[in-house]
Amino acid sequence: MKYDVIVIGGGHAGIEAALASARMGVKTLLITILVEQIGASSCNPAIGGLAKGHLVREVDALGGEMGVCTDVTGIQFRTLNASKGPAVRGTRAQIDMDKYREYMRNVVLNTLNLDVKQEIADGLVVEDGKVKGVTTQLGNRYEATKVIITAGTFLNGLIHIGDKQQTAGRQGEFASIELAAYLRELGFNIGRLKTGTCARIDAKSVDTSVMEVQPGDTPPPPFSFRTDKADFNPTQLPCYVTYTNETTHEIIESNFYRAPLFSGQIDGVGPRYCPSIEDKINRFRDRPRHQIFVEPQTLDETEYYINGMSTSLPIDVQLEMIRSVKGMEKAKIVRYGYAIEYDYIDPMELKHTLETKKIEGLYTAGQVNGTTGYEEAAAQGLVAGVNAALAIKGEEPFILRRDEAYIGVLIDDLVTKGTKEPYRMFTSRAEYRLLLREDNADRRLLSHAKRLGLLEKSYIQKVEAKEAAIEEAMAFLKENYATPTKAFLEKLEAIGAQKINDKTLWIDVIARGEFNREKLTTLLPEFEKYDDEAMEQILIEAKYYRYIQKQSQQIAQMKDMLKIKIPEGFDFATVQGLSNEIVEKLQKANPPTLFAASEISGVTPASLEILHVYIKMKQKGKM
Ligand code: FAD
Repeated sequence: MKYDVIVIGGGHAGIEAALASARMGVKTLLITILVEQIGASSCNPAIGGLAKGHLVREVDALGGEMGVCTDVTGIQFRTLNASKGPAVRGTRAQIDMDKYREYMRNVVLNTLNLDVKQEIADGLVVEDGKVKGVTTQLGNRYEATKVIITAGTFLNGLIHIGDKQQTAGRQGEFASIELAAYLRELGFNIGRLKTGTCARIDAKSVDTSVMEVQPGDTPPPPFSFRTDKADFNPTQLPCYVTYTNETTHEIIESNFYRAPLFSGQIDGVGPRYCPSIEDKINRFRDRPRHQIFVEPQTLDETEYYINGMSTSLPIDVQLEMIRSVKGMEKAKIVRYGYAIEYDYIDPMELKHTLETKKIEGLYTAGQVNGTTGYEEAAAQGLVAGVNAALAIKGEEPFILRRDEAYIGVLIDDLVTKGTKEPYRMFTSRAEYRLLLREDNADRRLLSHAKRLGLLEKSYIQKVEAKEAAIEEAMAFLKENYATPTKAFLEKLEAIGAQKINDKTLWIDVIARGEFNREKLTTLLPEFEKYDDEAMEQILIEAKYYRYIQKQSQQIAQMKDMLKIKIPEGFDFATVQGLSNEIVEKLQKANPPTLFAASEISGVTPASLEILHVYIKMKQKGKM
């Protein structure tokens, strides 16, 4: 059977890859081990969070499905860091994980140009360094010139619970053994990582009345720019907060010798920022307690996910430690926690399109590239799916820059620096945080969204209209002055805004205060015409205008810098401050410009800056 694009894996990466490719009019096949598990949440029943929320919004703004699905199936919505600046706010939602799967499965199965097969891919067809198709354990051979592997934690997956080990891709699901072996045969640089999950508790065995209640926000913030905020009224369930204590810590510590993490049973490197409970007790011995979030897995609230207690300790220890926690004294475990080790492909094997450098037409996306998290996976899936489809159509690739999107930062970090531990997104990884806000993802990615054509025309027109309104308002604020007349000063005082002494640009009046719609329209009644969405953007852009301007200038400088030519025969070894590894790579590639240098895996923005300064000084004869 012949396809244009084949996606292996129906996780968060595979869904976005397959949907993007099929929706771009390209004949696509999704092969996955269990159709029932399309869109399964292997770990926590939640989408988004700090920086991860940015990724969901960007996927949404480009036409991905994750945000819409979360809005439809979410059971609690919150804005994290709500009291902080807009750049570091993050939306997070608890989801009904059963409904999430059902929704995604239905969308995938209802998509035109997209076939689905429940099979296990066991190899690829590769000829002359080009991918030609996929083979499966059932003996099928599917042809395609683009293949996207999104195998998550399934490649050589090995589960650990105490001293028990089991070959699996996820608890109860087959691991992907042959495909893993095939990728090694192809000569890819393969590493081993580890992740883990907590036990799930029978909800009726938990006393939440003694725990702190953590409700959702009112009104709930939706993820998708396509969700109508006015109509968004999901049923919201609370989460609960409880804590470990000295007894919990003693139970865990006295069983360290049985922990696969410490006994040498696990080799893979785990996620630094999402450690298991035994790792936390070991690393932070002086902490008297650790926070545990008790989160419903579904709207029916039959099982709780105990966020913060990921573990691979033996099952008797899991029960004892859980029962030592307030509110969980009578807890019954439905599913035990476990750790899983799996193969990942060194992402430095990839181009920015997520196509492998070794095999033409072969792409990889998601956890298989060394990342962790549903959102990181979805973002890569979308990029790989779009690029595979564009390549089929003979169009220019789709690459997001670091100053355009968190997705750009994510992929640039992966393909230029690689990763030796599960990589997750943080706001601190982005250089231009004020520009890359969650709230403006629709606006900043509009031109890309238009080009890709994954979104309805009516939506694009809505964003264009909003953009025009914001531009009009900002032009007014940047070009017109407020005059400190008596009447004006009285108004300023009445709304608690800072006094002005001289004629002042409106933009600076706004930047100095905490403005909202009411306050702004007291001073500028003509701004009443802007709807809430445009107004939100006007207020943010005006408040941070000077900082945003500075970041935009830095980006322009960076673009100019990348145009700088590197003199022929340049000896990179003479540049102080570059690591040996980077010097070696530069000497080998001999890039003609700083831009060409920036494309080389491992050459970081910091090393480009060093190179830039050095070349400039040399040109001025100062070296
Ligand atoms: P997955 O969601 O794993 O999907 C992989 C898909 O590929 C599956 O549908 C599978 O059936 C399919 N597949 C694999 N091989 C084949 C094959 N040969 N043929 C056909 N189909 C195949 N993330 C966090 O952010 N925090 C955590 O604490 C965390 N803990 C985790 C704990 C565990 C135990 C596990 C398993 C995962 C955890 N994750 C965690 C990771 C999270 O699940 C992933 O980041 C996310 O699911 C990755 O999405 P993906 O699409 O890359 O892969």
